[in-house]
Amino acid sequence: MLITNAPKGTNDVLPEESYKWQYIEQQMREVCDLYNCSEVRVPTFEHTELFLRGVGDTTDIVNKEMYTFEDKGGRSITLKPEGTAGVARSFIQNSIFNNPMPIKMYYLNSPVFRYEKPQAGRYREHHQFGVEMFGSEEATIDAEIITIALDLFKRLGVGNLELNINSIGCEKCRPKYNEALLKHIGASIDSMCNSCKDRYEKNPLRILDCKNESCSTVVANAPSTIDYLCEDCAEHFGQLKKALDSTKIKYTVNPRIVRGLDYYTRTVFEIITNSIGAQGTVCGGGRYNKLVEEIGGKPTPAAGFGMGMERLLLVMENDGVDIPEPKNVDIYLAAVEDDAIIKAMSIARQLRGEGIKVEAPHIKRSLKAQMKYANKLSCRHVAILWDEDIKEGNALLKDMIEGNEAKIKIENIAGEIHNAGK
Ligand code: ATP
Ligand code: MG
Repeated sequence: MLITNAPKGTNDVLPEESYKWQYIEQQMREVCDLYNCSEVRVPTFEHTELFLRGVGDTTDIVNKEMYTFEDKGGRSITLKPEGTAGVARSFIQNSIFNNPMPIKMYYLNSPVFRYEKPQAGRYREHHQFGVEMFGSEEATIDAEIITIALDLFKRLGVGNLELNINSIGCEKCRPKYNEALLKHIGASIDSMCNSCKDRYEKNPLRILDCKNESCSTVVANAPSTIDYLCEDCAEHFGQLKKALDSTKIKYTVNPRIVRGLDYYTRTVFEIITNSIGAQGTVCGGGRYNKLVEEIGGKPTPAAGFGMGMERLLLVMENDGVDIPEPKNVDIYLAAVEDDAIIKAMSIARQLRGEGIKVEAPHIKRSLKAQMKYANKLSCRHVAILWDEDIKEGNALLKDMIEGNEAKIKIENIAGEIHNAGK
């Protein structure tokens, strides 16, 4: 192990690329605000039991991927392997349900930890933007969840996405479906992976989500959940389609989508792109009417999604989407003499007070080297500060674009910069 190598499956967001994250975060905030959806921030770790109960112990996440450890007080702690359970826990603990329903919350840049095989678009720490809405059974909420994600993609200029929807029913209709699925699998269970053998007993639906080739071959022609929906679930799915149709959203009903977490009921959806290879699911979500109750709250219908921020950025880069670059430095203050360097500090602070982006002379080097540095910063102006000029309150201001220079009063530098920017 080399301590200057970060742990496998983690990423640095470097200073020269963090503006991309900030840009998409800003768009996320703005879209959510239009939906009257407020930010919630929950801890990075929770009691392990929350995920065992919430996410479910027949899921890959809980079975294979969690970062779980005992803390010094002997508690079992798990680094968040997904975003929803923590928000649902907070909803209960803080009596958020006492506010007028529906409650609409989002989180962004939330770190998510999964012990997975690292590859492009799949990391051991990734970050999610997610939306969770509590307190309404109506399919219009499911539709709103979906449109938030789509509105964001539209704003960001990401195209070529496919929305896949499905309904996996409720506790009333699922047993009948499970029966049909088990019948379909029959003796083929012997050829399936150990996880699926376990799921066969505990949660057959999960088998449809298995990425193992031998398992997906067996379920390729399995019956679809939609054909087994009870009347209420069928009606709910019908309402969702109507709501999407009325907002002119194109979708594909994909009976293969069941999602990798246990808490889903009725609607499940994924937004998929072809532009980043195998890890093409940028956003996944659905309705989870049982989760709040499952973890100890009053029964509360809810729906939400999680979107991988790294995958979103990969798609944007692949599609050549423009991300506005940060503003250049407005002015570099060049100084060679000791007194002038110190004086540059106070001039810099004054200019920053007027909203000007300033870089000061922090490394002693020749004027020529400083001009070269200023060029690299691509700043429009350079003020050259000589002791002699400063004594008279002056500086030599150079406009790097126009190519001209003039001795001006130091107090007029801000005005010159503001004028040049117009
Ligand atoms: P996948 O099928 O690709 O494993 P998932 O079903 O496990 O995805 P979710 O649990 O729904 O994914 O997480 C929501 C989103 O988070 C995904 O759609 C994806 O964009 C992103 N995501 C999930 N796992 C990772 C990971 N290991 N690295 C990066 N992004 C991820
Ligand atoms: Mg996964």
